[in-house]
Amino acid sequence: MNSLRAAVVVGVWLLQPSAASPTLFEGARLIVGDGSAPIDNSAFIVEHNRFTQIGRKGRLKAPAGARRVDLTGKTVIPALVDAHVHLGYRKGMSFSAENYTRDNLLETLDRFAYCGVAAVLEAGTGRGDLPFQVRSDARSSARYLTAGSGFAMPNAGPGVPMRDAAFGVTTEAQARENVRTLISKRPDLIKIWVDDRNGTVEKLKPALYRAIIDEAHANHVRVMAHIAALDDAKDLLRAGVDGFAHVVRDRDIDDELLAMLKERAAVFFVETLWGERQAIYQGKPAWVDESIARDLLSTQEIVQLADSFATASAPTPAQRGNAQRLLRNVGRLNTAGVKLGLGTDTGGVTGGQYFGLASLVELELLVRAGLTPAQALVAATRNSAAILGLEELGTVAAGKSADFLVLDANPLVDIGNTRRISSVYSRGGELNRAALRTQWAGR
Ligand SMILES: [Zn+2]
Repeated sequence: MNSLRAAVVVGVWLLQPSAASPTLFEGARLIVGDGSAPIDNSAFIVEHNRFTQIGRKGRLKAPAGARRVDLTGKTVIPALVDAHVHLGYRKGMSFSAENYTRDNLLETLDRFAYCGVAAVLEAGTGRGDLPFQVRSDARSSARYLTAGSGFAMPNAGPGVPMRDAAFGVTTEAQARENVRTLISKRPDLIKIWVDDRNGTVEKLKPALYRAIIDEAHANHVRVMAHIAALDDAKDLLRAGVDGFAHVVRDRDIDDELLAMLKERAAVFFVETLWGERQAIYQGKPAWVDESIARDLLSTQEIVQLADSFATASAPTPAQRGNAQRLLRNVGRLNTAGVKLGLGTDTGGVTGGQYFGLASLVELELLVRAGLTPAQALVAATRNSAAILGLEELGTVAAGKSADFLVLDANPLVDIGNTRRISSVYSRGGELNRAALRTQWAGR
């Protein structure tokens, strides 16, 4: 196969085109992504962009002519999935609906791919038909899923400048009609906002979210709710919601909620701890000065990020208390065995423009909430892929798409080692991360 030509066909971002010829990767510690013990000194074979065999070094029978890649001393984990992001509005330091262009969406997907995030869900702030067009465009480096336009009361959904992206509904008939309009574009999920934003906007009425959930389910589409309050989480569960875009933040979760969740094992939460990073860290975290931040961000952006953790902008005792309660709630859901995925809200009001970096840091925050590193990795891989219905991602297993990260150190020892990325493979091909760095440095 002419590798140069193949590289052009699949996109400039692939160093090794996703070759049809088989490749044997051997010697790495392999974390499969299902919570099982890692395979030390592993071997796995990738052929036609997919994993075909997984086992121990020396035990697999490589097909004739297989290329060999020595990963001795490295750790392999499945590619990550971020199930709550907002694409298109952020571009460097700028945050505006004017940035919502095809080029900006594609560049943002490259940033996720650079960090080993193989898929993201745009959580209800898509604009027009563009997200659906980009989703079906095979050129994007990370898979792009979209909830299109989400639902709220008029002018009461996502934060400005994303606010006008949502459907504003006031009657059940209108809500159902808008759901049908959205479903004709085949959204991957439907997003609703059920939050009065500390009394500043009108919260989506229960009769309206019941109509939305009912209409969505009649069309076999699931509904994910933005919430803050415990009581809203409970009523949404009674209404049949499929999952939550955040964790309860107003109170400690109680036994009643846990009992309701036990009845419905498929219900998921993505935690978006990243949004509370200043209050959780209480000081500048180590990753602000790591090379991966410099790879992704301009000097000016790093200064802004460091400043956001500085004493002058230190969180108040109340904010710290809220963050501690959120961590407690996540820990409690985890202990109860509730399905947790990874989501960051990157690109939104609290998420900032830290695409990809935030997904990696969220793993560290999940560990702060009480998950083991192995549990955090399962949340970010297998669980998030399942939440988004991406059967080809989530674990390193025969038949799955060969999307994985090669790390320089073991994340089970220190989850921060997920940021020490040696290489990223997308659909069996190695991502040309150096080319992406060059491209971004030239801006
Ligand atoms: Zn969001």
